[in-house]
Amino acid sequence: MGRTRIVILGGSFGGLTTAYELRRRLAPERAEITLVASDDHFRFVPSYPWVAMGRRRLEQISFPLAAPLAAKKVRFANETVTHVDTGAKVVTTEAGEHPYDFLVVATGHRSANEAVPGLGPFDGPGHSPMSAPETEELGRAIQRVLAEPGPVVIGAAPGASCIGPVYELAFELDHLLRRRGLRHRVPMTLLTPEPFLGHMGMGGAGTIRQLLEGALEERDITYRTSVAITRITEGSVEAAGAGETPSVCSIVIPPLAGVAAVASSEGMSNPKGFIPVDDHYRHQTADGVYAVGVAVALPPVGETPVPVNFPKTGHMTEQMARIAAADLAARLEGREAPTAELSARCILDMGDRAAYLAVDPVRPPRNEIPTVSEGRRWLYAKQAFEHAYLFSARHGRRMPTALGW
Ligand SMILES: Cc1cc2nc3c(=O)[nH]c(=O)nc-3n(C[C@H](O)[C@H](O)[C@H](O)COP(=O)(O)OP(=O)(O)OC[C@H]3O[C@@H](n4cnc5c(N)ncnc54)[C@H](O)[C@@H]3O)c2cc1C
Repeated sequence: MGRTRIVILGGSFGGLTTAYELRRRLAPERAEITLVASDDHFRFVPSYPWVAMGRRRLEQISFPLAAPLAAKKVRFANETVTHVDTGAKVVTTEAGEHPYDFLVVATGHRSANEAVPGLGPFDGPGHSPMSAPETEELGRAIQRVLAEPGPVVIGAAPGASCIGPVYELAFELDHLLRRRGLRHRVPMTLLTPEPFLGHMGMGGAGTIRQLLEGALEERDITYRTSVAITRITEGSVEAAGAGETPSVCSIVIPPLAGVAAVASSEGMSNPKGFIPVDDHYRHQTADGVYAVGVAVALPPVGETPVPVNFPKTGHMTEQMARIAAADLAARLEGREAPTAELSARCILDMGDRAAYLAVDPVRPPRNEIPTVSEGRRWLYAKQAFEHAYLFSARHGRRMPTALGW
């Protein structure tokens, strides 16, 4: 029997976990695994808000992919995918072609900044931490606020799905400003499309709403829910029915879409560029194709006055990657692996402390009453988790996922 050719697109939580999980199950003589990624580094994205606040440098939360992949006998192609032909089973990059028997797509998102005029940073005056260059740009914008204090708006655009960082950025900036004695010169407003605080695209969870309301009020951060941001200008954020909020620094999370290479490849994705999958993360129609992480199409939990989309967290991405890898390996033996409902664990940084949230399953109704806990120990746990995760990922070890993100 020849070696099965498996191509993985993406070298982040979804792609790297899939590569390691597949190699644990399939020896190099059995499967040739190639990982294609446009970024030659793994980056611990949940720490981007700390990079923006100047608490981490990008290098501290990143490592080059080449060495750990080589150690696992996974070929690394640092290339940008331009097209996937699911009929011919070929991935095209700007450097050449990668034929496959099985394909795992973990290309994450494209920020759909076109959804709201002014979303940025490179398309408009808004700022956001959705990628490494955008996070560094946000860091420079925050330094400008420290030098010349003025009102700040932090929020999410209609249709956003990545809401957790909105709260983290608000609490972290509040904490930073207090430490510098500048908070009284920076009115802060949080604008969210969520129907209530802590909805997070998953219908809320336990008492997280009450916790967030109390924490924002305690810190004098004005908030508004069900807000549809319509425009960001150099000096303000405009919202339907909520007028104009002055802002010298507008940090607004955009709605997400699938990356161009996936969105433009026939038969790969829905109109937003996300990939429809079954409960084993197999493509619903394309043979031999799996998708995991943010690249996957998952419907919202329900209708809300302003659209909020279902979250796809790093922790959920890992679970998807493990299910997909187990299924792919099992299929090579003519079996089907078990699957599981996604759960979520998350530690939300609140500046001087953090909140821990555990939800099982993510989508209500749930078997378990969600765990919501607050304290300084969770901040230490979040810092410890970042170190543990980066160490494991860099050394090809199984990542610790139980603790919380
Ligand atoms: C600011 C912020 C904070 C977050 N905080 C948390 C948190 O606390 N906890 C949590 O669980 N989750 C958090 N998340 C969500 C988490 O980061 C994502 O769920 C996770 O990064 C998704 O992983 P992924 O592998 O699907 O995609 P991504 O991390 O987006 O990676 C995509 C990969 O695909 C590659 N790629 C993209 N396009 C191409 C192409 N055309 N050709 C080749 N390669 C390509 C990229 O180089 C990259 O390697 C946060 C997200 C953000 C933005």
